[in-house]
Amino acid sequence: MESLLAISFGELFLKGANRKYFFDNARKHILANIKNIGYEDTYVESAKLYIKADENKFDALVKEIEKVFGIAYIDEVYKVNKNIDDIFQAAKYTINKDYKDKNYTFKVETTRVDKSFEYDSPKLNAHLGDLLLDEFKNLSVDIHNPDIKVYVDIKNNAYVYTKRHKGLGGLPIGSSGEGLLLLSGGIDSPVAGFMMAKRGMMVNAVHFHSYPFTSKQAHQKAEDLARLMSQYTGPLKVFSINLANIYKEIATNCDRRETTILSRRFMMRISNKLADKYGFKAFITGESLGQVASQTLESISVIEDSANYPILRPLIGLDKQDIINTAIDIGTYDKSIEAYDDCCSIFAPDKPVTKPKLKYIERSEENLNIERLVDEALETIEIIEI
Ligand code: ATP
Ligand code: MG
Repeated sequence: MESLLAISFGELFLKGANRKYFFDNARKHILANIKNIGYEDTYVESAKLYIKADENKFDALVKEIEKVFGIAYIDEVYKVNKNIDDIFQAAKYTINKDYKDKNYTFKVETTRVDKSFEYDSPKLNAHLGDLLLDEFKNLSVDIHNPDIKVYVDIKNNAYVYTKRHKGLGGLPIGSSGEGLLLLSGGIDSPVAGFMMAKRGMMVNAVHFHSYPFTSKQAHQKAEDLARLMSQYTGPLKVFSINLANIYKEIATNCDRRETTILSRRFMMRISNKLADKYGFKAFITGESLGQVASQTLESISVIEDSANYPILRPLIGLDKQDIINTAIDIGTYDKSIEAYDDCCSIFAPDKPVTKPKLKYIERSEENLNIERLVDEALETIEIIEI
């Protein structure tokens, strides 16, 4: 008897021409998440991904696999030869292991992929049910609302299981195009990336730092956050760009109170170039309406004016506490609150404009050589593949 995890995907996943693409992506993502835990082998059999592994590792493996979107179920299965005796032994094994402590109701639920198997599904349900009733005095049948379902999948082999974990839902990564997350070191942007990944977007990240005004650790923190996020987003690219010179130019040539707005507009212009080059279809930010001065409607619209792609703001209507709760759930919160200065906090004016007008901002920008500054910033690019 072999122990395996069987992963089944949401319905949408199974339809359409891109099925193989999603499947390969999901498989890569799952294997990246579990590579440090260890497994023996993987294969696909009629729309399920099987991962052969020591059952002592099941808990640890399930915890990591659960982070992949688009999964409907993760089942802890036992693979045996296709005969009633071996199937019964496997069912006995799982019940002895997990359901001996008290009385339970159960039903058998067979799915017969191999139609040539001697028992059809209702016959196997009835026969295996009888064998289990004879064997276990603490079991009784309830076909409508059982405590335990004993699943039997008849394929090339038989798979028997009782333990099923529900997946995280969402859409498989890659089903909603590819986007670029503006990833600061804060709490909000990793949560924003998580939320768009949940809707099937392949998320890459750009981080703007201001070395040497900001520390190397601040820079590292964004990379660490991207690594934590990648448990959900799967493999991603992180672009890291130095804005120090742009901040210096703004400080010398513009009204200090406009620093945040002006720098955000540069972030958008640089992101435009990355999107042109890499084919990203949208930007993602962690903005939430009214949270800070740069997140008033006036600021948002002046910043948006410099973006050539749609800006998705999945947190726009959420309260800070809800965002924090999600950050805790997905495991990015502790990293986010590590205190390192980011460029915005160092250069942030004491009294930022909260209702900027586009024409005044554009007037300030006449004092800057925008194109040259954007190109020079792009020359500082570092790309990390996670
Ligand atoms: P966060 O918690 O994500 O830092 P915040 O509440 O601090 O957000 P802002 O500082 O106004 O809010 O930033 C709004 C959004 O702009 C961020 O969520 C992020 O998407 C983007 N952003 C801000 N600073 C940077 C940066 N240094 N690099 C990349 N993106 C940034
Ligand atoms: Mg921030």
